[in-house]
Amino acid sequence: MDFLWSPWRFRYVSTAEEQTRCVFCEAPRLSDEKALILYRGRENFIILNLYPYTTGHLMIAPYAHLASFADAPKSLTDEMTDLAKYCCRVLMEVYRPHGLNLGMNLGRAAGAGIADHFHLHVLPRWFGDTNFTTVIAETRVLPEDLETTYRKLRRYFEDVPLR
Ligand SMILES: [Zn+2]
Repeated sequence: MDFLWSPWRFRYVSTAEEQTRCVFCEAPRLSDEKALILYRGRENFIILNLYPYTTGHLMIAPYAHLASFADAPKSLTDEMTDLAKYCCRVLMEVYRPHGLNLGMNLGRAAGAGIADHFHLHVLPRWFGDTNFTTVIAETRVLPEDLETTYRKLRRYFEDVPLR
């Protein structure tokens, strides 16, 4: 049951190439299409997870390299929450999942792949989507490729009505 609520506890990179660079700091320097960034807000951006647990697995991350969610500025976490709400609405409309997971892994002990730059996962869930034999193999067969996901979702982020 553990990984039902911790679907993002897989590795971003192999231990051999434990990153010295931060992907959340690097991504915004690239073009939206190259980095698979859906939206750039004032303090946060929305990006596709390159290793999605399910189709439509998004992440919201601050531009600032911050490890501590608890100490992050209110304006930043307020915007992050607003964006998360919007992501939920979009994912429900586009993918019609049975449910959604929203979550953060703060610290390596909590399963963070990138522990020193906090980020919020938003992902659709379907009954039976944990039936991946690949949990052991650490590779997974995806029902939809990232470019398709990006193309489907992108238009929803041209204008983000926050409420
Ligand atoms: Zn960073």
